[in-house]
Amino acid sequence: MDHKEILRWLRQDDPQALEELWARADKVRQENVGQQVHLRGLIEIGNYCVRRCAYCGLNAGRKDIPRYRMTKDEILACAAEAVEYKYGSVVIQAGEDPFWTLEFIADLVGEIKASTPLAVTLSLGERSDEELAAWRAAGADRYLLRFETSNRELFDHIHPPLAGLHSDRPAMLGRMAEMGYEIGSGVMVGIPGQTYEDLACDVEMFADLDLDMIGLGPYISHPDTPLGVEAPAESDQTPASEELTYRMLALARLACPQANIPSTSALATLNLAQGRELGLIRGANIVMPNLTPQQYRPMYEIYPAKACIRETAQQCRSCMKRRIESLGRTVGDGAGASPNYIARHAQESGDATCVH
Ligand code: SAH
Repeated sequence: MDHKEILRWLRQDDPQALEELWARADKVRQENVGQQVHLRGLIEIGNYCVRRCAYCGLNAGRKDIPRYRMTKDEILACAAEAVEYKYGSVVIQAGEDPFWTLEFIADLVGEIKASTPLAVTLSLGERSDEELAAWRAAGADRYLLRFETSNRELFDHIHPPLAGLHSDRPAMLGRMAEMGYEIGSGVMVGIPGQTYEDLACDVEMFADLDLDMIGLGPYISHPDTPLGVEAPAESDQTPASEELTYRMLALARLACPQANIPSTSALATLNLAQGRELGLIRGANIVMPNLTPQQYRPMYEIYPAKACIRETAQQCRSCMKRRIESLGRTVGDGAGASPNYIARHAQESGDATCVH
């Protein structure tokens, strides 16, 4: 699909015409990743953050909010729960927080890998190559870091840099792929200042980065953040709508047929009744039930009124299972690596064999 065609779909708002896009995405999903929906248990291990991302409720500028960090034992208990619920993997996510040192995370990952069959995904923000390599060596399988927008100017505007650090998330993703990680990235849809052109470039960047996982959600304005009080200036401004998010999901599936793509909580936040399901029939093949202990959930407030913050981990599991089965799909078994990664890895090991 070329740039023009991507743009045409992004601007298409005739429901009848969009049926073709949904059908194509659903078919490509079925042919490439099948009908199973894999469950990833999300563990939000802490909400301290040193960054000032202009859209995020965890940003360091918010001095007056309660902060928490889970202990290693609490995190391991969540991992045990993931095993009990037969989840194939856990996603360990937090604000960017130096408290989570190379050693702490390496030990944690090592223990989870030694005591469970889980695949371990990390999502701890922009970290050094040394840390990323050590965590990979300790057994971490996957890393999630959204590039948020392919528009460099917009990226810089909403991500004030840490002193002395230039962020280049696409480059970091490339290095992680070389380290052997399954790499995941994605964007928010409807960031103030984002245009349709930007979104078309985002879809092209998914393919250029050869992503194994793609996370997409609507931007949800948080009133206590710098972006939450900023008026959108662009005439070609994208809406932060459910509809446009589905179009991006479907286009992401067509651009990266073998990627694992979740139907996200941000979508469910806009449409609690149907958002997850609509995501799953328009390109997605993953859901991420929350495993974070209930007392911490309201504090991981990246945006307001987040869906599913009151439910227990067990309720999240039953709810996701019911939704998946209502679509005639089944809950996936095993770790559910992306076929894109499996193919890349086989090729790399094959090359290595040739060399020796
Ligand atoms: N510190 C980690 C995890 C951030 S939270 C990191 O930087 O990667 C995970 C994702 O939530 C972010 O990548 C962002 O895309 C999304 N997010 C944050 N604030 C949001 C908001 N206000 N609306 C919608 N999504 C948001």
